[in-house]
Amino acid sequence: MKTIKSKDEFKLAQNVIPGGVNSPVRAFKSVGGTPMFIDRGEGAYLFDIDGNRYVDFVQSWGPLIFGHCDKTIELSIMKAVTKGVSFGAPTQIETKLASLICNMFESIDKIRFVSSGTEAVMSAIRLARGYTKRDDIIKFEGCYHGHSDSLLVQAGSGATTFGTPSSPGVPSDLTKHTLLAKYNDIESVKRCFENSKDIACIIIEPIAGNMGLISADEKFLQDLRVICDENGTLLIFDEVMSGFRASLKGAQGVTCVVPDMVTFGKVIGGGMPVGAFGGKLEIMNQLSPDGPVYQAGTLSGNPVAMFAGFASLQKILDSKNLYNDFELKATSLVKGLKHAADENCIPLHVNTQGSMFGFFFNEIKVKNFDDALKSDTDMFAKFHQGMLSEGYYFACSQFETGFICSATTNEMIESCIAAAHKVMSKIK
Ligand SMILES: *Cc1c(COP(=O)(O)O)cnc(C)c1O
Repeated sequence: MKTIKSKDEFKLAQNVIPGGVNSPVRAFKSVGGTPMFIDRGEGAYLFDIDGNRYVDFVQSWGPLIFGHCDKTIELSIMKAVTKGVSFGAPTQIETKLASLICNMFESIDKIRFVSSGTEAVMSAIRLARGYTKRDDIIKFEGCYHGHSDSLLVQAGSGATTFGTPSSPGVPSDLTKHTLLAKYNDIESVKRCFENSKDIACIIIEPIAGNMGLISADEKFLQDLRVICDENGTLLIFDEVMSGFRASLKGAQGVTCVVPDMVTFGKVIGGGMPVGAFGGKLEIMNQLSPDGPVYQAGTLSGNPVAMFAGFASLQKILDSKNLYNDFELKATSLVKGLKHAADENCIPLHVNTQGSMFGFFFNEIKVKNFDDALKSDTDMFAKFHQGMLSEGYYFACSQFETGFICSATTNEMIESCIAAAHKVMSKIK
């Protein structure tokens, strides 16, 4: 595999962009080597500037549920662009997208759009604090909710990969309001409530995708609901990744627990920068200009992004058997990987949820962040490099989730499994 051009470009980029990338995990630090520079995508394929082709299991870290260059989404973006790329004034498409989402989710009466998942969660937290008039929040070790100050504590994936659970530049005066609990461990949540009477909200990835893929137990989510109700604390589901990925209704299509607020990102923008947060009427009505909690954005509800998001969600709703098909493909992929690992005596634990899949090079079944950290990251790095040179692009960290898109075929999965056998027999 030739990577000369990417290597050169990476050097140039490093001169003018910190680490050569605009988001840290892209730098391939935890798997070694240099990142490929991308020329273009096409369906499930990615092409780099050296002319290599890869089957893409990253899909821009989740957003591209229909793969690259989906014609429906592309067309609606083109149409929107010809009318003007931004107005900073209301457009009809914002109401259309909002209605579509509010109609889908019992938990959402109103929704506001922003430009990223980080912004969505940050705003939801502020609203939860404003609504409850409390300062403290509970988050779980290994869950990632974007890079805003209060949430950058034990934050999974990127942060985990680099071994910096929190970051310099985040004042401890801020993070002292962030109480940490253990995923799937209700006792650790109860301890937080013993330590504070001031808890505004619990924020959770109900299907965690940023410490590898780990689902919350149904009983655990139910217990969270009860403890929130008993204490007047809001329950926020961060579905930035799981939304429209884990199932049509994300985690909310999998659990019967109803949150007070939900955050979205990734798929909701169809590949354009969009995030959103929504919830019950009485909470959302506290938001400016109706209520006192301030939140704003020059490019929020950007028409091009809204058209991309709407086209994406409408196509999801119009597609038959989409999530069944995703689930079948994801399952056959991880089963194949598991088989390849077993044959080579490499410990591997696999998981899927809708179009999401994960695998840990780990002796034990992973239930929380501590378990995830016991994974063999060196083995993952070797696997990643090996698969890349075979033409299969997995996320470049043990603590990320993989994604199937509608353009991923059974043939791609079969050949990927064959490549995994080859790679694992070399790295065992
Ligand atoms: C990706 C992600 C975010 C942050 O979204 P950005 O668009 O990267 O800011 C927040 N929460 C979860 C669960 C995510 O997966």
